[in-house]
Amino acid sequence: MNSRHAALLHNAPHSHMPADTWARLCCEQALLAVEDGCYGVGAVLVTGAQELLCSARNQVFADGHYNSAGHAEMLLLDQLENEHPAQDRSALSLYVSLQPCLMCYGRILLAGITCVRYLARDKPGGFINKHLPAAWTELSARTCVRQADADPYWINLAEQAINHLQDRQALRQRVVAAWHGQPPE
Ligand SMILES: [Zn+2]
Repeated sequence: MNSRHAALLHNAPHSHMPADTWARLCCEQALLAVEDGCYGVGAVLVTGAQELLCSARNQVFADGHYNSAGHAEMLLLDQLENEHPAQDRSALSLYVSLQPCLMCYGRILLAGITCVRYLARDKPGGFINKHLPAAWTELSARTCVRQADADPYWINLAEQAINHLQDRQALRQRVVAAWHGQPPE
């Protein structure tokens, strides 16, 4: 991790909120995603015994081509399903630095995750559970998605990672280029 990003983690206040440990790890992953040239979003899965099970970060451009499913939550749930198939999902909590999008919200429901806590709100892109088809409404009733009880420092850092520590416009242009079959620069 570069020194500027490491300082942002280092300068954090001492942990005093329940979710601060996981918020820090989400922000660390988000900053690493920025350094990978991807969207600054990170996520972790935590067991009911408050142990870290998996961590992941956005990797949409990491392999030299555009992977539209490379969101942090998607890769996190791939890890869960590939590496921990015997894990009971009912007590797991998913922490993520940014409010989940439409795709990830659906995946979270299908993966059987019932507790989701995000740091930064995503007003333009965060999915709000409204007007779902009946089967999805039923599925979504099992799952609670809300902002984490974390120190404002982490919520602010998560917001910085996605909105200010990278050129979001340039990332958007890379996505559009990929839609036209052009490789990421
Ligand atoms: Zn997503």
